[in-house]
Amino acid sequence: MSYLVVTTRCPISYERVAGKVLRRENIGGVAVSLNKLMSKEGGVWICWGDGSADSEHLEENYNGYKIVRVLIPQREKKGFYDDYSNGILWPLFHYFRERIKYYGGAFDSYEYANRIFLEAVLKNVSNDMVIWIHDYQLSLLPGMVRQKSIRNTIVFTWHIPWVSAEFFATLPESRKIVSSIVSSDVITFHTDQYRSNFIHSADFLLGKSSDYAKKSFSIPLGIDYSYYSVNAVRAKNPFDSAMKVIFSIDRLDYTKGLTNRVLSIRTLLERHPELAGKFVYVMIVNPSRTSVKEYINFKRELEMNIGRINGEYASVKWVPIIYIYKKVNDATLLSYYRYADVALITPLIDGLNLVCKEFVAATDHGVLILSKFAGAATELKESLIVNPNSLSEMSDALFNAINMEKQEIERRLSLLKAEIKKRNISWWLARIRQAVERSNYEPTISDFSQE
Ligand code: UDP
Repeated sequence: MSYLVVTTRCPISYERVAGKVLRRENIGGVAVSLNKLMSKEGGVWICWGDGSADSEHLEENYNGYKIVRVLIPQREKKGFYDDYSNGILWPLFHYFRERIKYYGGAFDSYEYANRIFLEAVLKNVSNDMVIWIHDYQLSLLPGMVRQKSIRNTIVFTWHIPWVSAEFFATLPESRKIVSSIVSSDVITFHTDQYRSNFIHSADFLLGKSSDYAKKSFSIPLGIDYSYYSVNAVRAKNPFDSAMKVIFSIDRLDYTKGLTNRVLSIRTLLERHPELAGKFVYVMIVNPSRTSVKEYINFKRELEMNIGRINGEYASVKWVPIIYIYKKVNDATLLSYYRYADVALITPLIDGLNLVCKEFVAATDHGVLILSKFAGAATELKESLIVNPNSLSEMSDALFNAINMEKQEIERRLSLLKAEIKKRNISWWLARIRQAVERSNYEPTISDFSQE
């Protein structure tokens, strides 16, 4: 058995910078997991060649498998990526109704782009392959593949939240999307709640069937635990050790609760003025979707709040928030994970969130504050779980984290580490493989919740 993986992001991209072609590895969590699988099992990985020099590298052999890049014409790219994927599906599946803009023609571009991926699947598929399609940008692909009478097992993995049935049904194309996804053999989500919302959506829009529950699974993505725990030991301390360091790293996205985080720092300082000068919040924000208008406006709002709070509380010797707007490399990220005292990971809603798992694997003394609406909160019960809409709860959690006894930190950490080590990246891949094998003979279905 080998895999035909389909994702929008490629494991490697080529960019033309100042006349030279640069090769860039994609280090995001899902790419790392799939790369591990593909280098072991072999096969073909189809992805969107959106790098400026990708058109010169449409196919290549890499790590024991083949990468096939598809190109999406410029005129369809905006409709597919900016408008439908990130302007409609992304806010819809994160319950941001007011941010959805129903751009005319966007769905046509989305369908068109999914068809481009279909052509590449048809060209590269062979009988022994499992077709593994990922995420909300490619929701029409399972249905398109089935319509071509392809009999291979199809796995579809949904990486973002799945919303309640009546909310999903507000999307004009909801029926088309859900009927495509149910033509897969195995459908995986990161939490029981998303899986259950999906089953209700399918029942609601397509009519009741026991089939939806049988083929859907809750299998949360794990990380390469030993990579973080082993390499973090070698990291150098980037901080001034006289102060407690509160840390976060996220893409610039309105779902991540960034504004509420900086407001919670203000609440902390209002309630505990004695903490001025005793801690610093190092907030790293990665540029993301920089061509989407919503993101440009959101950046302005966040930066205004940071400036205002620093202006109110800073002295010539201290600022409460150090804001860094850039991507950081692996080694730097590891040093932040290792030496931060508190990680403040409080998305308003997040499909899973890998950063919190990576932090726990890398730290030897840190406290994790985690939003109850991050998918990972269902696994990481020993973190300080907060509602990210409550500045009061977040400020209390910050105060507790800053003052937590060493023994209590260690007790929580050892339980959190054990959890992340157990459900690591290999566990995730093995569980999905098990689901594929079981999908061939009914009705033995066991999922994460029934373990
Ligand atoms: N990451 C990175 N460099 C950065 C920031 C983030 O490599 O400068 C990685 C991080 O280690 C994690 C992923 O990007 O694996 C972010 O995943 P997460 O699920 O937390 O959030 P997403 O961005 O997928 O919403």
